Amino acid sequence: MAQGTVLRGRGVSAGMAAAPVVHLAPPLPEPDAGEVVDQAEREAEAQAIHWAAVAVAEDLRARTAGASGEARAILDASRLLASDPELVSEATQLVRAEGRSAARAVWEIAATHEAALAALGGRMAERVADVRDVRDRIIAELLEVDMPGVPVRDEPFVLVAVDLSPADTAALDGGRCVALVTEQGGPTSHTAIIARALGLPAVVGVAGATAIPASTTVLVDGDRGAVEVEPARSRIEEAETAAVVVPFGGEGHLADGARLPLLANVGGAADAVAAAAAHAEGVGLFRTEFCFLDRAEAPTVAEQVEAYRGVLAAFPGRRVVVRTLDAGSDKPLPFANADDEENPALGVRGLRVARRSPGLLDDQLRALALAAEHESALVEVMAPMVATVEEAQDFASRARAAGLSRVGIMIETPAAALLAAELLEVVDFVSLGTNDLAQYTLAADRLLGDLGDLNDPWQPAVLRLIGLVGDAGRAAGKSVGVCGEAAGDPALAPVLAGLGVTSLSMTPRSLGRVAAVLAEVTTEQCRRAADAVRGAATVEEARAAASVVRTR
Ligand code: PEP
Ligand code: MG
Repeated sequence: MAQGTVLRGRGVSAGMAAAPVVHLAPPLPEPDAGEVVDQAEREAEAQAIHWAAVAVAEDLRARTAGASGEARAILDASRLLASDPELVSEATQLVRAEGRSAARAVWEIAATHEAALAALGGRMAERVADVRDVRDRIIAELLEVDMPGVPVRDEPFVLVAVDLSPADTAALDGGRCVALVTEQGGPTSHTAIIARALGLPAVVGVAGATAIPASTTVLVDGDRGAVEVEPARSRIEEAETAAVVVPFGGEGHLADGARLPLLANVGGAADAVAAAAAHAEGVGLFRTEFCFLDRAEAPTVAEQVEAYRGVLAAFPGRRVVVRTLDAGSDKPLPFANADDEENPALGVRGLRVARRSPGLLDDQLRALALAAEHESALVEVMAPMVATVEEAQDFASRARAAGLSRVGIMIETPAAALLAAELLEVVDFVSLGTNDLAQYTLAADRLLGDLGDLNDPWQPAVLRLIGLVGDAGRAAGKSVGVCGEAAGDPALAPVLAGLGVTSLSMTPRSLGRVAAVLAEVTTEQCRRAADAVRGAATVEEARAAASVVRTR
């Protein structure tokens, strides 16, 4: 690809970074079943399995030492499996007796172990993924190819892929990846959200990205949605300067002193600790489903208490808004969702899961109440994907019965935004999930890069709905938060404040930039910005209206 070529996509995580390209390694193909190894070579072929397993166990041991928490436990489990004498001896036996290739033998023996574990069910069935992971590691070692998924490198790299699964993105934490480029994916996909949480600049929907040869240096500009091939030295220096995070002093306020608390979005204890270190004033959205994405069975109450306490403990005496499981759509949880829906975004997701599994919700509320008893954080609970007053009422009574006193709902559907006044009669607060609100208002799948322009909180229809919710909040004297990605957009923050939003919750890295913009505008300027924006008919007009008022 020619030097200076610029590929366009959609910037979904701000910032710039430059590094050589590494491609996401493709899944391993099933090794040929028909290949028969000559008698004379079988012993060497069998030995190769033994040495590959040793190398994999060594690699995992080294990586376990550098990991912590959940990642350490996962690596450790895989290391033990890789050292499992049964797997290796059965596979070598198959090579010696039947002449299978080493890779094929490992594949077949792993399949029998997987089937046996799956038949046992429960926690044992969850180990099927571990067996497959070890199988792939040993086969990749035998074939001298990259393990499927995010390659491990010692030097910084830009990861290029058609798309990333949640598991791929989870593997990025702690690695040397400095930016993401994908051919598919939308701005509010959870891949994009994790990229923002990790502070990795990301551009999605880049046609032809996977054709950039490996090792080519690219500059990823997450603000402009551009990928520059072989950029000039001066551009690389610019990227290095832009990587600096603006620090946050710990209090969001406007120029006239009016307070606007700036909170963090987190997915678990490690995120919460990082958010506290970034001086977030509390947590405005704890996505509890992120704690259990890899679980085949529902977590027990005790497991949930532990997971929630980890987050609450990071914010003693501070507000922590915990969202009940938002399973479904782009975050299906095997224990909560049916997998045969034609339109999962319009299906049984979020609070709707309680229709068929009320026990799951009640257990979660009980676990949260227990966690709250043990910690000093000011716990608030809210439900995702609410569309009717009856749903809000039912959720509020379940939450209060469990012993939780501050109960709210997310406003993610146009129905909820239009009914905000009535909803605020039955709950204590609302929080705008602008990612889904945009998706459902514009009827545009948030995962589709092609529709990224519609999935934009600056769309006038979305801004007017936010305004309705703000009006209802002011009239009721109740809090209206924003916890969708819109909250981290510095240009939008004054508009949201003017529309009646009382707190903003975002990825911790955005706190400093949002705080800096808010500190320069007064309550009056925010109101004027909001009024002007409410009259806008297009995204362009809305952006222009917001910027004109701010500079006046
Ligand atoms: C949202 O929809 O804006 C939101 C915050 O929830 P999630 O992104 O987890 O769906
Ligand atoms: Mg949502």
